Amino acid sequence: MSAGQDFLQEQVTLSAPQDGDRGGGPRTPNRTCLGCREEAAKRTLTRLVRGLDGTVRLDRTGRAPGRGAYLHPSMGCIELARRRRALERALKAQVDTALWGDLETAARREAAPATALPEDG
Ligand SMILES: [Zn+2]
Repeated sequence: MSAGQDFLQEQVTLSAPQDGDRGGGPRTPNRTCLGCREEAAKRTLTRLVRGLDGTVRLDRTGRAPGRGAYLHPSMGCIELARRRRALERALKAQVDTALWGDLETAARREAAPATALPEDG
């Protein structure tokens, strides 16, 4: 006769993605790089801001008040923006030469290989 085959049903729970959540578009805000004119996620770009005093500076927090402009942290894009005076035009302000130095420093840091940090803390 047949052996009682009772409790062999395994409930396989697959986390099936529901299709209902699609179609809203990406949440990440995009900005245009002043250098290469390509759109990129805001987080990946360096923000420059014209402060209330009219000075353009690097905005490391990304939240400084004032008119902002965005640039890839790469030498190529910095150089392009610099030569086209794209930053001056975008912010309608004078850009101090020192700012380009700051940008290049930031770009170099970005390009540098990440130093191996100890994983255990
Ligand atoms: Zn760029």
